[in-house]
Amino acid sequence: MRAMVLPAARQRLVFTELASPRPGEHQVLLRVRACAVCRTDLHVVDGELADLKLREPPKLPLVPGHEIVGTVLEKGAAVSRFAVGDRVGVPWLGWTCGECPYCTNGRENLCDRARFTGYQLDGGFAELTVADERYCFPLPEAYSDVDAAPLLCAGLIGYRALRAAGDARRLGIYGFGAAAHLIAQVARFQGREVMAFTRPGDDDAARFALSLGATWAGGSDQPSPAPLDAALIFAPVGALVPAALRSVAKGGTVVCAGIHMSDIPSFPYAELWGERTIRSIANLTRADAEEFLRLAPQVPVRSTTVPYPLARANEALDDLRHGRLQGAAVLVPGQNGA
Ligand SMILES: [Zn+2]
Ligand SMILES: [Zn+2]
Repeated sequence: MRAMVLPAARQRLVFTELASPRPGEHQVLLRVRACAVCRTDLHVVDGELADLKLREPPKLPLVPGHEIVGTVLEKGAAVSRFAVGDRVGVPWLGWTCGECPYCTNGRENLCDRARFTGYQLDGGFAELTVADERYCFPLPEAYSDVDAAPLLCAGLIGYRALRAAGDARRLGIYGFGAAAHLIAQVARFQGREVMAFTRPGDDDAARFALSLGATWAGGSDQPSPAPLDAALIFAPVGALVPAALRSVAKGGTVVCAGIHMSDIPSFPYAELWGERTIRSIANLTRADAEEFLRLAPQVPVRSTTVPYPLARANEALDDLRHGRLQGAAVLVPGQNGA
């Protein structure tokens, strides 16, 4: 099979012919139909997740990609949830131990021994992949393969971040990329007001946010025109934390939704005082995924996607890095010869 392989951190992906993977006992072998590109993939490629000191070291060389839509070609001996031909989604959470204090009280997203797709496990920047069926999901039929792919991380980890905002009515969203464009639609559906804070000068992103129901959109260097009840930060920019904190009302929460951020500059305690909270979101639980995938077609959440052939994964990563696309980049194997 053909795959885009990361040989080592901070290198370009290389289009490579690999042996086809074989499904283990609990695994399905999937033909990849689409795999969305996530900001986390940039952090993986850049070697920035070393800071997290995960117990399971990242795999190298690695096939990245953790928003996979595939169809089952073959099943391991213990596979019972899916049949050959079924369409399934594969998210970032690829395996957990099931035994640690986190796993046994509903917080498997924090499992010490978790393995993540496209990080410790080969992912979906490939024609074929294997995944543990216990961490895969059926996908809502209303979505095409390409449109379903970004739901699997941007959508469902974004949704976990939104839930962390509690019942906040006026929500600020910092960084209007793949996650924000999906979650803004859910927030509007829930009757919340959305204010979008985009890269200063990025008028296209501001217009995009307004088209998805934001009532205000402007540069993240501006204060909010009205006090926020909560802020979700999707951009990997630590300076946005104190900026968002200055815009949330007393009792408000600032949710850092990404897996990596530049350092947070120091700020006066008075800006946190007033029972404001700063918290992060790490990974997902399977329950998050089930809840979000049930909700998405009801909203209905619509994906804005930019498809790329598999062989052009580096271009997709570059476009994401430089903010040159709206919505989500999605790799589609089998197009244009790759
Ligand atoms: Zn565990
Ligand atoms: Zn992701």
